[in-house]
Amino acid sequence: MRLKTLEINGFKSFAQKTVLEFNNSIVCVVGPNGSGKSNVVEALRYVLGEQSMKSMRGKSGLDLIFKGSKSLSKGSRAGVTIYFDNSDKVFKLSNSEGGEINLNYETVSISREVYSDGLNKYILNGSEVRLKDIHNLLASVNIGSSGHHIISQGEADRILNANMVDRREMVEDALGLKIYQYKIKESERKLERTEENMKEVTLQRRENAPHLNFLKKQVEKFEKAKEMQADLAILYKEYLSKESVYLENEKNTLSLQKDKLKSELENVASKISATEDNNSAEGNKKINALRVVEGNLNSIRGMKSEMERKLGRIEGMIEMETRRAEQNIAVVEISQEEIKAVIADINNSIDEAISKNDVSEVKPILERIKSILKKFSSQNTEKSGENIEIKNLKQSQQEILEEMKGIESKEKDIAKSAELLKQEINKEMEALRDLEREKFTWKVRQQELSSALELTAIKEGNLKSRTEAFLNEIKEGVALIGQEILAYKDEVAEALLPPAGGSKASATTQEELKRKIERIKIKLEDAGLGSGAEVLKEFKEVSERDGFLAKEMEDLAKSIESLEKLIADLKEKIDLEFKEGVRKINVEFQEFFSLMFGGGTGSLSIVVENKKKRKNEFEEDESVDVESSGESKEEIVFEKGIEINVSLPHKKVKELNAFSGGERSLTSIALLFAMSQVNPPPFLVLDETDAALDEANSRKYGDMLEKLSKHSQLIVVTHNRETMSRAGVLYGVTIGSNGASKLLSVKFDEATAIAK
Ligand code: ATP
Repeated sequence: MRLKTLEINGFKSFAQKTVLEFNNSIVCVVGPNGSGKSNVVEALRYVLGEQSMKSMRGKSGLDLIFKGSKSLSKGSRAGVTIYFDNSDKVFKLSNSEGGEINLNYETVSISREVYSDGLNKYILNGSEVRLKDIHNLLASVNIGSSGHHIISQGEADRILNANMVDRREMVEDALGLKIYQYKIKESERKLERTEENMKEVTLQRRENAPHLNFLKKQVEKFEKAKEMQADLAILYKEYLSKESVYLENEKNTLSLQKDKLKSELENVASKISATEDNNSAEGNKKINALRVVEGNLNSIRGMKSEMERKLGRIEGMIEMETRRAEQNIAVVEISQEEIKAVIADINNSIDEAISKNDVSEVKPILERIKSILKKFSSQNTEKSGENIEIKNLKQSQQEILEEMKGIESKEKDIAKSAELLKQEINKEMEALRDLEREKFTWKVRQQELSSALELTAIKEGNLKSRTEAFLNEIKEGVALIGQEILAYKDEVAEALLPPAGGSKASATTQEELKRKIERIKIKLEDAGLGSGAEVLKEFKEVSERDGFLAKEMEDLAKSIESLEKLIADLKEKIDLEFKEGVRKINVEFQEFFSLMFGGGTGSLSIVVENKKKRKNEFEEDESVDVESSGESKEEIVFEKGIEINVSLPHKKVKELNAFSGGERSLTSIALLFAMSQVNPPPFLVLDETDAALDEANSRKYGDMLEKLSKHSQLIVVTHNRETMSRAGVLYGVTIGSNGASKLLSVKFDEATAIAK
């Protein structure tokens, strides 16, 4: 890497485009006072990102733009471009991940422009970049931002005047440790951001947690309910299929029973009506006939007893007549004809009586018979003789006896037929009673069957309500679980119909199933999961988000860990390299110091200093921390500083303050050169650093320049002949009457002339 060219255009007194080529390792810029030599150095500072206006002798960017003169109008823009040879590809840029990429350009150009409106731009190989990128880029080639490699006029002893901490920074810069400082700062900023992110994520997770928990519980509930639904579906299928089978069987059984009962009832009814039809008129006829026969028997018996009375009277009369005849006399004679006529008369009457059925009709006949007998008896008395009378009486007796014989035989006949009738009637009555008994039995059966039929009707009623309940259960089941429960039908189709009436065991199973179903239904109702799908969806989203955040936390924790490690590593590296660097600087410093002063000692030592530090002190101006900018907290930090220890030969003075201007100048040159030797910068700018040197020291200075130029390009602004004599290229700067600086390449003799 090498400095190639510097292009100055509109910057300060360089109104026109001016180009400096750095073809030699020592380039001197010479010219009279006020010609613009220092403006060249400032152009370099400027293009390398200098932020301090003071170090460029201005108040604002406007002061950097050519202000115009009597003959030239003022500029609207100041631009400086520096070109580096990058054929060895050492320029590096940090990328956003903290890594570095080598710039693949042969030439790296950095431009900085400032406009009259204050706009400031950095351009790297044609692309606008940030100041930070410029700093990173330059740090990668050991061009630090502290500007230790550019020693402005009168600033040689800046390092002597600086406090210990600032001095340490300059040393760090010179040692090329600035790049690690940037990395630390960058990592610390990242760490802070990461920690903030972590806090935010933690907060978010904490905020989400109750909702997530709530959703989780809901989902658990929902899943439990889903399980219950699944259980319910199984129970439902079993219950419904069994119920369906049961109902079908019951229906068939009842219908069969009913048919059977009905047909039996019909049969019984026909049996009963048959017994009623058989109720005989025949029996009644016989009873009526018996009544007639018994009437006849009674009247015959009446007649018989009448006869017996008549016979008794006749026998009494015969006895009385016989006794009187024996005592007295004659017996009245009664003719045979008369007796025959009376008997015939009575016989006729009796026949008539016999022929009568009704007893009441027999009575007048009997009266007539009586009067016939009375008339005959009085005739007998009137006409008589006693013998006739007895004869007649005996006749009558005989006749009556005859008649009695006839009546008795008739009585016997009638009694016999009555007895026959009675026997027949009894027989029939017996048959009738049997029939009644049979009828009663059928009636009982009929009653039984009717009851059974009624029971069937009740059962049918029950079956109907059970069927309705079954249908309702299906509706409810579909509402609770869905159409899938209708699949019970498949099971029904497969199910074998159990034997009719044998459903008692299954009925208890059904009751148990029903109870289980009801219990689950109640639990499901309690769960009250109307919008389960939404809850699931939300839970998924929220838990995914939480998972994402958890993952992020993990990642953040990991990056915090690695950042902390990186910072610690970098700090350790800086610490080590710093110590080692200071040791090396001391070797060089001692050498340069004794060379300059012809003896004596010079060294740096590392000290630790307590310092109150504003927390945002190291924040870069472009990334203002909003939180801490309001109230900047102070904290005590232990900071390392650099102390310079010197002792001059033959002198007791050890305080730098007590040194002469020349001594200070020599000391600082020795130190600056020592620092440059350890980690040589690509170039070193020295603006009249040699101003205070006498001739002898100027030679020593010149020797040191040559030594330094082996490792770094030197751009030296000087009035010193000795110094000029060491230059390979000399540029003369003059300022014309137009107020613009002019640059020209000159020979040594011309240069010494111009310098005057
Ligand atoms: P010396 O040898 O005395 O240190 P020098 O050569 O270093 O002088 P500079 O200090 O670089 O001179 O130049 C200063 C000159 O630049 C002054 O004349 C000043 O007027 C001029 N100058 C500074 N800023 C501007 C500007 N913005 N526009 C025009 N001229 C400017």
